[in-house]
Amino acid sequence: MDIKLSSGKVKRKKTRKISVGGVAIGGDSLISVQSMTNTDTADVEATVAQIEALAALGCEIVRLAVPDEGAALALKEIKVLASVPLIADIHFDHKLAIKALEAGIDGLRLNPGNIGSVERVREVVKLAKERSVPIRIGVNSGSLEKDLLKKYGGRPTAEAMVESALGHVRILEDSDFRDIKISLKASNVPMTIEAYRILSEVVDYPLHIGITEAGTTFAGTVKSAVGIGALLAEGIGDTLRVSLSGDPREEVRVGFEILKALGLRERGVNVIACPTCGRVKIDCATIARSVEERLSHISEPVDVAVMGCIVNGPGEAEGADVGLAGGDGVVLIYADGKILKKVSEEDAVEVLTEEVLKVVERKRASR
Ligand code: SF4
Repeated sequence: MDIKLSSGKVKRKKTRKISVGGVAIGGDSLISVQSMTNTDTADVEATVAQIEALAALGCEIVRLAVPDEGAALALKEIKVLASVPLIADIHFDHKLAIKALEAGIDGLRLNPGNIGSVERVREVVKLAKERSVPIRIGVNSGSLEKDLLKKYGGRPTAEAMVESALGHVRILEDSDFRDIKISLKASNVPMTIEAYRILSEVVDYPLHIGITEAGTTFAGTVKSAVGIGALLAEGIGDTLRVSLSGDPREEVRVGFEILKALGLRERGVNVIACPTCGRVKIDCATIARSVEERLSHISEPVDVAVMGCIVNGPGEAEGADVGLAGGDGVVLIYADGKILKKVSEEDAVEVLTEEVLKVVERKRASR
């Protein structure tokens, strides 16, 4: 497998472009960040509040579980109030898919092989086509078809996941439906990577990537960064969801950090902080954390360096939009590559934050 990195840039595999409620996925479009609500979808107020909290962090598409009629009926109202495109996550019941489409949903996550007869699939596909609503086929290693498990030795494998996905794709293609994206998720990171590698060689549908049931915020963030990061570095993936147990806002933050780390997206403050060592004479870690928290609402891309001493400090601080290099209880503040002033350690967070906000204002004014 070639690692397609040259000159520090990821070369993306070519996929066809689809649109989820105006958000382009695939082709040359930006890799979008998705998340999923964990409220009761039938509770319109709570669900809309969570959608908007995710959108405020830059989440571009939000998926909602639609397990029953109550949830399906709530979609119409939620759609009116939500500021980002919504995807209905549906299993087994084609009537729920029809209701979601009638409610104006922007995308469906549904495996056509799981909703029964060809007629039912055709009914859903007809309406999805009329409304230009794409369908994500989402294969999960935990719910592979029994015959495929048997064929591949009784346990999920990357090949079995790909075969399952291709089976669902065929059903949609047989109904002349190609507005498709595909995901192949497992909690096993190497298996997920392998499955996407194989799939990306045989289809040009856009791929939704992620590591499912990745775990708690700490372990799940690491697993997702490794799995999603490895795929993105190979040019695989058109949209992503980080799956974490807990507050879905963390999924959005982590998703953007993964994309930023690979130079695939820019968003918000990028804090460059030294790991600290025996030379440090300021509380570098606390300053970096405080700056990150105080500027977490910023969506403009700004590089901020927080460095402990003069060894690497001036270089990093000069290279960032705004930075500081620590001395003994004092810091030098930099902006646009030049030293602006020397302030006490106590004032460092305040002054650095002010300088970052000035940069943000300038960026906004020049837009
Ligand atoms: Fe240590 Fe200075 Fe490097 Fe920070 S910048 S790790 S304090 S040498």
